[in-house]
Amino acid sequence: MLMTAPLDDLTVKVNDLVDRPGASRAVDLALPVPDGFDLPLAAVGAPVRLEGLIESVVDGLLVRGRLDAQIVLSCARCLTPIVHDAGVDVVELFADPVQVDPDDEVEPGYELLDGHLRLDALVRDGLATTIPFQPLCEGSCRGLCAQCGADLNEVTCSCADDELDPRWEGLRGLRLPE
Ligand SMILES: [Zn+2]
Ligand SMILES: [Zn+2]
Repeated sequence: MLMTAPLDDLTVKVNDLVDRPGASRAVDLALPVPDGFDLPLAAVGAPVRLEGLIESVVDGLLVRGRLDAQIVLSCARCLTPIVHDAGVDVVELFADPVQVDPDDEVEPGYELLDGHLRLDALVRDGLATTIPFQPLCEGSCRGLCAQCGADLNEVTCSCADDELDPRWEGLRGLRLPE
């Protein structure tokens, strides 16, 4: 059964390359951000650029190139927005699920269907690897006060002074003889 891939800006027509090992085409694409591309605390700005080569190989089509995008992250300590220039090299094989060896499975999102390939998964997987686990506006960021929420990079609050170690709480009312 042939599925017809919906045509949009993330779909590339590759009829000219299918089953022609050795043939290739250079691409330089400005792609939209895939739908449902949600990353924690990160917003990807359009367009995502893919510059590289689509090569026809015996097993399918190999897409190799470089993805570039701007991703706005939030500092993990103070939540200040940080613009992250994400760039990553990608190499992915797209294959026709009908033609591959039954023992091999085509990775979901990397199917070559009806002379088209869709780049959603490649964009999503590629950019996800560029996102730091704990982005920081700067290594010395002091973060927000856990009590009053003040940005400790800009102000000094007095919360720390009032803070009493809970283990000493029972001594609060204690009066010592003068
Ligand atoms: Zn920060
Ligand atoms: Zn405070």
